[in-house]
Amino acid sequence: MAVSREDVLRWLNALQEVFSENQQQLTALDSAVGDGDLGISWERGFTAVQAELSANPPADLRSAFQNVATVLIRTMGGTSGPLVGTFFLRAGAACAGKSELAPADVVALFQAGADGIQQRGKAALGDKTMLDALLPAVDEMRGALEAGSGLSEILERGRAAAEAGMQATKTMQARKGRGSYLGDRSVGHQDPGATAAHLLLKAAADVWRP
Ligand code: ADP
Ligand code: MG
Repeated sequence: MAVSREDVLRWLNALQEVFSENQQQLTALDSAVGDGDLGISWERGFTAVQAELSANPPADLRSAFQNVATVLIRTMGGTSGPLVGTFFLRAGAACAGKSELAPADVVALFQAGADGIQQRGKAALGDKTMLDALLPAVDEMRGALEAGSGLSEILERGRAAAEAGMQATKTMQARKGRGSYLGDRSVGHQDPGATAAHLLLKAAADVWRP
């Protein structure tokens, strides 16, 4: 299965409902290790994305992701807003000139997005951030791709790796962002950004299931 422009729009639109449904959980997680704004911020960002996509339907994949990035950077606050904006900016660049995405392109999209977050935020694996969900997911997806798996399996294995990474943040001490102010008191809490990153992937796996 290749992912079309319409499939990409379905994913981006679905994220509004995903972050609306999970707003309270994300707020609760960010209240434990941060300032409690993450749930509201992601819900606001993806509500604005949905409005933008229906008001100005993007002509191609690259402009779809670039518009999403612009809207997220404008409407979301906090540390995670510009970082997820960067994810979509890089995702757009990875789609340049493509009218649909083969499985390898989907892996490249997530890889480019995760790399962008890493370059911008300078966090490493184990710092208790979004990357603790995204980087293992990208590795797993690349492994599945190289083993010849189809898109559904690639996405499901990536999602499962993101979930495991998200769970593993409970045992980590935060070394970046507001959570790091807590020192070892951040241990025992699941990272809100990693939880949001898992939801991004889960939505793609759900929406792009044939
Ligand atoms: P703030 O702490 O400014 O309110 P948010 O609530 O928007 O920020 O986002 C907090 C999340 O941002 C954290 O849970 C973590 O996953 C993520 N985060 C923080 N710093 C970084 C970083 N340098 N790189 C990647 N993710 C980060
Ligand atoms: Mg916060």
